[in-house]
Amino acid sequence: MEIEKLPKNTDYYEFDNSHSYWPAIRFYLKRACQAIHYHNAKWWCDLHTGEPIQRNAGELLMLIVSEIAEGMEGHRKGLMDDKLPYRPMLEVELADAVIRILDMAEGFGLDIAGALVEKCKFNTTRHDHTRESRLAHGGKAY
Ligand SMILES: [Mg+2]
Repeated sequence: MEIEKLPKNTDYYEFDNSHSYWPAIRFYLKRACQAIHYHNAKWWCDLHTGEPIQRNAGELLMLIVSEIAEGMEGHRKGLMDDKLPYRPMLEVELADAVIRILDMAEGFGLDIAGALVEKCKFNTTRHDHTRESRLAHGGKAY
C-alpha cells in the first residue's frame, strides 16, 4: 500500500502524541503476561510428577513460529478457524502467538511489557522509519 493511500480515519490518527497511554499499556500488558502464565501453568510442570520444569527456550520460540506459520496458511487459503469458526484463522493464530509470547516472557522472567513500551517509543525516533528515509534509495519498502 502506498503511503499516500494509507487510511486516514483510524484510531491510530486519533491518538495524541503525548505518550500518556504508555504507562497503562505497560501495566496491563504485564497483567496479561501474569494471567496467561497462570492459565498455562500446567505446561510448566512435569506431566507425571507435577514438579515445576525449566522450559526450553528454543522449543518455545519454535512453537511461536508454528503459530505464525499456521496464521500464514489460514490467510493464504482464506480459512476460518476450526476452533473459533466465526473468526478468521489468521486472527486466532496471531492470538495463539501472542499467548505463547506472553507466557514465555513471564515464565522466563522477561520484562516484555517494559521492553515493548521502550521499543515503541524508540521506534518513533528512528530516522529509517520516516517517510523520507523509506522513499530514499535503499529505504525500507515495508
Ligand atoms: Mg494455533
